[in-house]
Amino acid sequence: MINLVLFGKPGAGKGTQAAFLKKTFNLVHISTGDLFRYNIKNQTKLGKLAQSYMNNGDLVPDQVTIDMLEAEVDQNPNAEGFIFDGFPRTKAQAEALDIFLKTKNMSITATIALEADNDILVERLLERGQSSGRIDDKNEIKIRNRFDEYNIKTAPLCIYYQIQEKFHSVNGIGTIQEITTRLTKLIESLN
Ligand code: AMP
Repeated sequence: MINLVLFGKPGAGKGTQAAFLKKTFNLVHISTGDLFRYNIKNQTKLGKLAQSYMNNGDLVPDQVTIDMLEAEVDQNPNAEGFIFDGFPRTKAQAEALDIFLKTKNMSITATIALEADNDILVERLLERGQSSGRIDDKNEIKIRNRFDEYNIKTAPLCIYYQIQEKFHSVNGIGTIQEITTRLTKLIESLN
């Protein structure tokens, strides 16, 4: 079983790459951002709770996110493995994930960070905002706030996974295909 965490700032290409990797390695792709957007679209209780945080580019509170993620894993009991995209984003989430997976005799195989410069990411996100209509992609102040959230709350997780010898970094600049190839080679080299 392979369980991957895709890590990286907003716009680094986590969702795009996860869509390819899930097919190659037969994994279930769980994007917490997508799950929140689905709930917002359907105006569920969870969606209403998450909406203002997301629209401002703030992280949704940990326990809400952890509960949602665990429910999603539980809904896929026959999965051959998972790609966690956009989760964990805080130390509390990472610890909760380790504990939760352990109860299922599972563990994280590797955490892979897609690296790219802020300026390139801002450009990509503003472009995406035009086609997707995502409120959090349309405004540079909100985008920069998401980078701040990442730097303060998520970046320290690199050390968390380095200590476990599970942290890998991949250059996220290039064509989609080039980056997919880099990731595929890395995942194939994991044992
Ligand atoms: P994403 O689609 O991964 O860029 O996520 C969009 C937004 O969803 C983030 O800016 C947060 O508001 C929220 N979100 C997604 N994943 C998480 C998470 N693991 N923890 C807290 N908030 C999250």
